[in-house]
Amino acid sequence: MLIVLKQGANNAQINAFLDLLRIEYGLKFKLTEKNNRKLVMLLGKDFKKIDMNLLLSFDCVDYVNESDEDVRLVDKTFNDQNTVIKVGDKVIGEANFCVIGGPCSVESEEQIYHIADKMKSVGVKFLRGGAFKPRTSPYSFQGLGKKGLELLLNVKRLTGLCVVTELVDLKYLDLFSDVDIIQVGARNMQNFEMLKELGKCQKPILLKRGISSTIHEWLMSAEYILSGGNANVILCERGIRTYETFTRNTLDISAVSIIKEISHLPIVVDPSHAAGVKWLVEPLSKAAIAAGADGVMVEVHDCPAEALSDGNQALDLDEFGDFIDSIKPFVHVANKKML
Ligand code: PEP
Ligand code: MN
Repeated sequence: MLIVLKQGANNAQINAFLDLLRIEYGLKFKLTEKNNRKLVMLLGKDFKKIDMNLLLSFDCVDYVNESDEDVRLVDKTFNDQNTVIKVGDKVIGEANFCVIGGPCSVESEEQIYHIADKMKSVGVKFLRGGAFKPRTSPYSFQGLGKKGLELLLNVKRLTGLCVVTELVDLKYLDLFSDVDIIQVGARNMQNFEMLKELGKCQKPILLKRGISSTIHEWLMSAEYILSGGNANVILCERGIRTYETFTRNTLDISAVSIIKEISHLPIVVDPSHAAGVKWLVEPLSKAAIAAGADGVMVEVHDCPAEALSDGNQALDLDEFGDFIDSIKPFVHVANKKML
């Protein structure tokens, strides 16, 4: 619900009105401004107890819009400062361009250490690696599960790298307390119960776009997390399903610029899952930088030919080093600092 305040309303009137919402009704709200008009955005959905006549009797109130569609914490309108996500002493968003690299799946201690070493040597600060894997076929490798997560967290302790890994089910959430960024995969983008629960913590959430989701649906999923109280959401464009079969998915590059235009949330691009082939990772990443992305997430493997998942799209360690060199000038031209 959105309450539009009168243009000339003074602070004393507004404060008295906000006290009513806060103290009398126990409501949460956000005070914001659009086109020189102050707006009060009521959060939540149980507004039955509100006496509309009482609201409208306040001198400072112009009108009330009861449509849910107008209440979006993800919109730029409601937060003109771009959101930056703090992960330890690192900041995702604004002037930084973050690179997240690592294997599709954590497969062994040797593999993840080998890859983490490469990340360190090229200055990358974020290591991805799936421990719990959502696979299309039940016969495919499902990830090492808890063991994979332990390996990833050991690497974090030893290297200082920040780790990004996917939560496939809420029952594992307790295991994720030392994970730096929780990934919500494309298949779980509309797992609303999961989103609500993640809204209750303050962990950064990397929210991937659903395979066939519109930008609106994607943002509404982010809204679930924000409205629960967790503002630390990073969107991830990972390609959508179209009629094109040349690539695994179709990278919706316009989504990057659109998100930058309408939302304050940072957005990273995953060219690996978008393309499904490694030779497209570099050009798509450059396109992502040009479109305004805040980062890329790239799959890297020490031996792609033997990878247990997504080997076709993984860069090997040398290719990843070359990839980092090749995007640096683009990041520079975009006026950003590589993270
Ligand atoms: C992944 O990042 O490994 C993954 C499974 O991605 P998505 O959810 O985008 O398919
Ligand atoms: Mn993968």
